[in-house]
Amino acid sequence: MQTVDYIVHNAKEIITLKGDNKARSGKAMNELSIMKNSAMAIKDGIIINIDNTDTIKQNYLPLQWIDAENTIICPGFVDPHTHPVFVHTRENEFEMRLQGKSYVEISKAGGGILSSINAVREADEDYLFELAYNRINRMIECGTTAIEAKSGYGLSTESELKMLKVIKKLQEFMPIEIVSTFMGAHEFPLEYRNNRQAYIDLLINEMMPEVKRQNLAEYVDIFTEAHVYNIEESRKILLKAKELGFKIRMHADEIEAIGGAELAAEMGAVSADHLGACSDEGIKAMRDAGVIATLLPGTLFSLRSKSYARAKDMISAGLPVAIASDYNPGSCNLDSMQFAMTLSCLQMGMTPAEALTAATFNAACAIERQDFFGSLEKDKNADFVMLDIPSIAFIPYHFGSNNVSKVYKLGELIFSRD
Ligand SMILES: [Zn+2]
Repeated sequence: MQTVDYIVHNAKEIITLKGDNKARSGKAMNELSIMKNSAMAIKDGIIINIDNTDTIKQNYLPLQWIDAENTIICPGFVDPHTHPVFVHTRENEFEMRLQGKSYVEISKAGGGILSSINAVREADEDYLFELAYNRINRMIECGTTAIEAKSGYGLSTESELKMLKVIKKLQEFMPIEIVSTFMGAHEFPLEYRNNRQAYIDLLINEMMPEVKRQNLAEYVDIFTEAHVYNIEESRKILLKAKELGFKIRMHADEIEAIGGAELAAEMGAVSADHLGACSDEGIKAMRDAGVIATLLPGTLFSLRSKSYARAKDMISAGLPVAIASDYNPGSCNLDSMQFAMTLSCLQMGMTPAEALTAATFNAACAIERQDFFGSLEKDKNADFVMLDIPSIAFIPYHFGSNNVSKVYKLGELIFSRD
């Protein structure tokens, strides 16, 4: 008998997502590897075994029993695309959009991304930390046990470093895994609008080398879109990022197919995100290069878009799809991966099983953490949620409230509804 910290028993089902340890597409996204009459033995935050309850009881001696009370257990949600560090929320712009005001009109009224940039430049690190801390706590309440977090509301060397230091402090103080991304190429700051090349030079010669020197980010991300960074500018910045040893993620083909997906393939990006207008060629190029498509249906929903990324075409073409919240103050103030699943089903036609795979295992692949979490398997982290629901389809079906009753990260209870 091996002694373990605890055994979780009496679950209605354990949705393990056990399978190949690489990003899934096609039929594999519907295979959830559901176990009934099963229990999990957990020690030091790691899953020692998941098996038939009798087998677990025969082989392991727990210090404690945890009764799952007939809930469904699934892996903690992984949110591979968030912008949680900023000062003020921008619900005033939400109202302006409803009145039919355009992006340009909102910008002229002092809104848009530039208002977030001005506020971040003026804020101190502790204040930014406190705000982001509270936002990430709400994500945890919704079952998220790992996120990717970007800079990109500073757009000067000093304020981008400040944002990344806030993310570093969040990594230390929050109970979930936070993966850090430098996104100085989120926009062109106002003072460089008439001299884009000078800002690109600043990114290349000063900001990225300094971020690397201080080891503040694992990835570099860029907003590749007709009105932001074009393909040539993006290629130049990303080549330098790679040379410095950063891994690549991209905001690509959100509104227009300008070849962002193809560039993601060329650069060997880990993930290309948005892809609302991605072409067939882009889908094939990403699939062949092993890039993950991270789709953000919350953003298109919030912007009242009529068209969404072609998730089903991507999945059937063999391109693995992940989903994320895109939590940010402007286009998408969404902290629940459960609602991202709802939109994936209702607006992109994904099955509940595909949406769950996209929100857990494939999302872990999109931040290269699939060896540690995203599925519930022997030797992986005990990162899981308990849901008081009849079946997994209930998550996207029952939207607008939280279906998660308990959240565990590395074996520790980090949220309980009661
Ligand atoms: Zn984004």
